[in-house]
Amino acid sequence: MTTQTSTPTLAHTRDELAAALAEQDGRPAPGSSRPYRRAVVMTMGALHAGHLSLVARARELADAVVVTIFVNPLQFSPSEDLARYPRDLDRDVALLSGPGLLRPEDVVFAPDPQVVYPDGDPVVRVSAGAIGDVLEGVSRPGHLDGVLTVVLKLLHLTRPDVALFGAKDAQQLAAVRRMVRDLDVPVAVHGVPIVRDDDGIALSSRNAYLGGEERRRALALSRALRATGTAEQIRAAARQALQETDVDYVALVDPETFAEVPADFVGEALLLVAATVGTTRLIDNALVEVGA
Ligand code: AMP
Repeated sequence: MTTQTSTPTLAHTRDELAAALAEQDGRPAPGSSRPYRRAVVMTMGALHAGHLSLVARARELADAVVVTIFVNPLQFSPSEDLARYPRDLDRDVALLSGPGLLRPEDVVFAPDPQVVYPDGDPVVRVSAGAIGDVLEGVSRPGHLDGVLTVVLKLLHLTRPDVALFGAKDAQQLAAVRRMVRDLDVPVAVHGVPIVRDDDGIALSSRNAYLGGEERRRALALSRALRATGTAEQIRAAARQALQETDVDYVALVDPETFAEVPADFVGEALLLVAATVGTTRLIDNALVEVGA
């Protein structure tokens, strides 16, 4: 077995990105039955195996891949971790160059904020509407609007046929799907399952903030998702499992609308948890059978 690596094209500016995309567009599509020409995976860097699973899936789905690495100031509130968010582009590009991932014709777009927002903060923004008012939207006001605004900009800049997002950020995935539907954005959205460590913790760039003892306490989030029973029993058991953390929310919702399911609900629902461990805010979620 070979473990060949290859380095993708690195673009920092809009011109560099446009040139790299023109290269991709100019290449004859291989005579395959793959439906998509170009896939995009949007990230904030500090990559881990969760991000790489999106890239591997993109590689399978499309002829050419663009990975964006951009810590988007618009989706951080002043009290959040924008300044200390981990950044290491060389490491990220090395990871993306691993076997089965990016090739020389693929692109890593790593712009500075002034490249993405040349006129400063955008005056016109995307509103996540009702989806942005619950859960993450309550704890992080404006967060989903900031996400959707940059997602739409990056879709325009990278012109993909398919865009991949992780189920780890379930509310973000639902909001992106809704934006694409409501605003007729010409892209297919593909959700990718959550990648977890062996102990069950969902991989996250923010796990790097956790000290040893905090990491043990952080396991409570994935454990909380194993709750069973009626809607009320599931909510109570998940809260119970999170008692060693500072719970932000426990929610059992319709996976599309994010409305809480009623006490007598029977069927599949999305259980979401958010909690702070030490100073690190973590989220996790899973589909659960309710009332079974
Ligand atoms: P981020 O860099 O945190 O903005 O994440 C970039 C993309 O990777 C988003 O679509 C996330 O949902 C996805 N992602 C992050 N962590 C995971 C994970 N553990 N499993 C699957 N996808 C993930």
